[in-house]
Amino acid sequence: MCDQHASQFSRRSLLAAAAVSPFASAPALAAAAEAAVDTPLPNAISPDEAISRLIEGNRRYAANTPANRDFSAGRAARAAAQYPIACVVGCADARVAPELVFDQAPGDLFIVRVAGNFVNTDSLASLEYGVKVLGARLIIVLGHSNCGAVKATIDVLKKNIALPGHLPILIDAIRPAIDLAEKAQASDPLAEAIAQNVRYNVRRLEQAGPIISDYVARGQVKVVGGFYKIANGEVELI
Ligand SMILES: [Zn+2]
Repeated sequence: MCDQHASQFSRRSLLAAAAVSPFASAPALAAAAEAAVDTPLPNAISPDEAISRLIEGNRRYAANTPANRDFSAGRAARAAAQYPIACVVGCADARVAPELVFDQAPGDLFIVRVAGNFVNTDSLASLEYGVKVLGARLIIVLGHSNCGAVKATIDVLKKNIALPGHLPILIDAIRPAIDLAEKAQASDPLAEAIAQNVRYNVRRLEQAGPIISDYVARGQVKVVGGFYKIANGEVELI
């Protein structure tokens, strides 16, 4: 990760200004720079448009008719900058690869993955970068069926097991969702806990100040939840 996108505006502005004339007046240079800044970036789409692209991509993936098969296409452009259309908070689970699940090209998704797809300060900082610097207008928290991290948290809490190493960090992070799921008394406690974990982290992100909450309040960024069903490949927004 680097700040190439942060410098994109100034770099483009300088290039545009230089293209006017090396001897152009200061106002002309300023006008050229302003015009360059106004040029929409490739990911300058609305949150709803980003949702549509992900849903359509997931339909292609579930139907086994992906559009993204040529990974050399766009490689030269990607070397210069990234323009992700969405941020994803995904589970580290090996079966949940967001680019595949949403049939998006390399460079389209800015992803943080941790077992149990929860938000902590590290991932929040990355998401702030994705929104503020890279210009992504959508964040999707993606849970999935049969999540081992959520399942383990239920077991550990029920049996009062002490886990070794840093594993208790995962339990502490997922625990709020388990508490919420217990209150719901659903017929499928695991699926309910997975869904509650997604919704809980969506709410946390919507309220995560000072950056993301501000974008959400102004309607410039949406945070949504998704439930990925491994068996059929479909993502359901929840
Ligand atoms: Zn998982």
